[in-house]
Amino acid sequence: MIETPARQLADQRRPAPAAEPPAEDDLDTSAAQSGADKRTALRSRVATVVLVLVLLSVSVFAVWSSQLTSSAAQSADDASTLSDYYDRADRAVTAEESLERKYRLEPGPEVRAKYDAASADLVTALDLVEENGDQSDRETESRLDAAHESYLGSIARMFDAVDTGNTPLALKIDGEEVDPKFDAIAETVRSAAQGHRENSVSQLAKLRAMEELTGWLTPWVFVLGLLLAAAMAFVTRGHRRLLDRERRQALRDSLHDALTGLPNRVLLFDRCGKELAAAERTGAAVGLLLIDLDRFKEINDTFGHHYGDELLKQVGTRLRSVLHKTHTIARLGGDEFAVLLPDITDVESAKDVGATLRDALEAPFLIDGVALDVEASVGVVLSGQHGINATVLLQRADVAMYVAKAGNLGVCAYDSDLDGHSPAKLALLGDLRRALTADQLVLHYQPKVSLDSGEILGAEALVRWEHPDRGLIFPDDFIPLAEHTGLIGPLTTHVLEAALAQTKAWLASGVPLTMSVNLSARSLLDDGLPRQIADLLARHGVPAELLELEITESALMADPARAQRLLEALAAMGVRLSIDDFGAGYTSLGQLKDLPVTEIKIDRSFITSMATEPSDALIARSIIDLGHSLGLTVLAEGVETAETLTHLRTFDCDVVQGYYICCPMPAATFDAWRASYPTSTMFRPEEPAPAE
Ligand code: C2E
Ligand code: CA
Ligand code: CA
Repeated sequence: MIETPARQLADQRRPAPAAEPPAEDDLDTSAAQSGADKRTALRSRVATVVLVLVLLSVSVFAVWSSQLTSSAAQSADDASTLSDYYDRADRAVTAEESLERKYRLEPGPEVRAKYDAASADLVTALDLVEENGDQSDRETESRLDAAHESYLGSIARMFDAVDTGNTPLALKIDGEEVDPKFDAIAETVRSAAQGHRENSVSQLAKLRAMEELTGWLTPWVFVLGLLLAAAMAFVTRGHRRLLDRERRQALRDSLHDALTGLPNRVLLFDRCGKELAAAERTGAAVGLLLIDLDRFKEINDTFGHHYGDELLKQVGTRLRSVLHKTHTIARLGGDEFAVLLPDITDVESAKDVGATLRDALEAPFLIDGVALDVEASVGVVLSGQHGINATVLLQRADVAMYVAKAGNLGVCAYDSDLDGHSPAKLALLGDLRRALTADQLVLHYQPKVSLDSGEILGAEALVRWEHPDRGLIFPDDFIPLAEHTGLIGPLTTHVLEAALAQTKAWLASGVPLTMSVNLSARSLLDDGLPRQIADLLARHGVPAELLELEITESALMADPARAQRLLEALAAMGVRLSIDDFGAGYTSLGQLKDLPVTEIKIDRSFITSMATEPSDALIARSIIDLGHSLGLTVLAEGVETAETLTHLRTFDCDVVQGYYICCPMPAATFDAWRASYPTSTMFRPEEPAPAE
């Protein structure tokens, strides 16, 4: 896993849809689209601003026009009321004048009362003016009030002169006081009334104009409102589309890897779940491959993150290009990819796809003129066989991938036996492949001795790994791994080569010892084995009778029919066959009878405990009897004590092997041991077996 600054930058970028075929939906992320998005966003922003401004102006206009109309109406109303009061004052003044004249001609209480009523009416009208008028009206009123008071004083004196018949005095008062005072009052009242009438008319005209304007504007405002509503709908639609696109883009981003544009882990899991459900309905299988680049970290560290990122992109594109479009390829992170195969029938087909993917990476990647070589390890799992849900399948694909990587195997299918191995053991796998070529695998030889004569009949070749760092590693720690990873083939060949070379060396020095070589269960599934062994024997110049192959019961049971065929072919060549670890498995007697074997080796678990466990002794004895009844040689392995040896002799066992006689040892030590081997004293109990 690498998380680099460059990667983080890349994460922020829009994914370039590199390898994934044009997505199933219309999730178009091209540059043109993003340009259109920007334009839409800008347009909708501008439209929003314009819309807000226009709305604001319309509202301002509405408030302004309504206020203007109402204040114009109020002013018109006020002006008309005031004008009415002035008119009333005007009428009162006119009435006063005519009643004053009338009183002079025909004085009497009736006219006098009417006159008083008219003058009271003037006072009332003036009070109303004072109440409703403005400052200038109030000033006019107070002036008129004072003038009227004074006028009424003169009238009173003139009316008294009339009442007393003093006409000359009456005329004098009228001419000198009443007329001038009245004229002044009448002039003021009339001009004020006239002024206010005109004002009232002009206010009304204003109101009419106002009404006309709003009457004219209203349809336009209505139309504008409609237009705005349409524009609003348009902008909203644009917005909605933009949001829709952004939402889809966000969804796409959340399901795809930003660097390569490939689906990410989440999408892979989703699709895997769907395919598994579909497969369950149809009874089909789903394959899952986990691909991890080898030495990617080195490239990343050596050339820099830019190269690493570019390489990952190109790798994604290449892997995608060799897959069918129904297959999903996802980047899980770092240099890890996964492929979902929804239409796979068996593990072998899935492995073939894995091999194709590896082949696709063979040509170097050209980045900025630098050619980079990259390889991949592929772990393979199949639904049903290796798990029924995405999580388990991916975990197991990971185990298989790790084994493939550690063992440099390229492609490796999951095997439940691999799961238990510690990472430390799995890490050994990587070294094991190298060990084969670096000659670190050596053979130790353990003698097989005749119980009857003490004669050394042969030796079993037992492989050891002289690890440069870890020292001597015993086969139990690496043979099972090799068996599950395909390395067992080359390992068996290596052991056969070395064992036959040693056999030939012994033969050349005049010691024709039978060489026993252990065969793994996997070797028995290889139809080419007899041919290969024939070639090896011929090449090393070793007679077939000097080679014995040890096969465990469980190996025979893996594919009994094929094992039978193979063993018959080997026996026909003259190679001896021995059933290893006999008693630990479940070989049927019937099967044993039909197999072309020459020897059975009683499992050492019975032999080492024979002396203390009577039941084990009984089993050993039964096996010996059984072997003899089938005409086979019976060997007891794991002989550690003289007591065990004595028991075996009593049971009439043929051949023995074990620490008590000799531990497995390198060829040179074996030779030295054999040279000093005193047949007669071989089984001396007081001589402890050398510890290995
Ligand atoms: P095996 O074929 O049953 O080999 C006998 C094992 O018992 C050897 O262990 C040997 O060292 C050990 N042994 C010998 N005498 C005694 C004894 O007196 N007491 C006890 N407790 N053990 C004794 P080793 O060498 O560790 O090999 C373990 C297994 O590894 C072998 O069991 C065999 O199945 C496998 N193996 C060894 N070499 C090869 C090989 O070249 N190819 C294959 N396919 N398998 C191998
Ligand atoms: Ca063996
Ligand atoms: Ca054995």
